[in-house]
Amino acid sequence: MIEAFVAGLFGSLLGSFLNVCIVRLPRNESVVSPRSRCPRCGNQLAWFENIPVVSWMALRARCRKCTKPISAIYPLVELFTALIWGASFYHYGLTLIALQASVFGTLLLGILMTDAREYIIPDEFTWGGLIVGLGFSVAFGVPAIIDAVIGAVVGFALLYGVAWAGEKAFKKEAMGGGDIKMMAMVGSFVGWPGVLMTVFGGALIGAVIFGPISLKKQILVPFGVFLALAAAIVFVTGDDLARWYLEYALGR
Ligand SMILES: [Zn+2]
Repeated sequence: MIEAFVAGLFGSLLGSFLNVCIVRLPRNESVVSPRSRCPRCGNQLAWFENIPVVSWMALRARCRKCTKPISAIYPLVELFTALIWGASFYHYGLTLIALQASVFGTLLLGILMTDAREYIIPDEFTWGGLIVGLGFSVAFGVPAIIDAVIGAVVGFALLYGVAWAGEKAFKKEAMGGGDIKMMAMVGSFVGWPGVLMTVFGGALIGAVIFGPISLKKQILVPFGVFLALAAAIVFVTGDDLARWYLEYALGR
């Protein structure tokens, strides 16, 4: 219980940094300097204006200098990251899996936000995340390493194939390179069965939520958002989901 609370506190601080990454990485800006500023007036934030969630509430969602509103997205990202870390350590205890789950969840949240805001999935989350995912597998031992490598290759190849087929069929880019790299990263965390379920689940969620709107208005679908949601579900449910699906599909 205490480790979950400490992990949650750490998660909120990491969420504060994740906010910086979400805004700056798609613009290829440094995430270390300059220090956080009000996006409207450029006023540099003091340390007490930078406390996760608390500052936003204390300032009543307004900049102290220009009094313009501060988006609720910032505290929500901090809150969600705190929840990811707290829930992971509550569920898995003080284990390496808890840390792996927390890191994976944080990467997925970052991808979800940048893809939803700007249709960009930064390499830091995908290639960077892939290295971290493979790193965890090394810590887990040989069977996990094989799972992670095959998962990454399958994830990359599968989405590459879908992108290639889509381009042939629609004569335009149907899927961004970010999605392809993202699935290599996801594969290193969930293995190849997980990758298949993530792509299937992501397409399903995307079709249900976005299908009708995108067909009518011809807007670009941020597929990474749905892949991120599906990947999180697949990581948490793992084999249970696959077993349930197989039993359902086989009618048993
Ligand atoms: Zn301001």
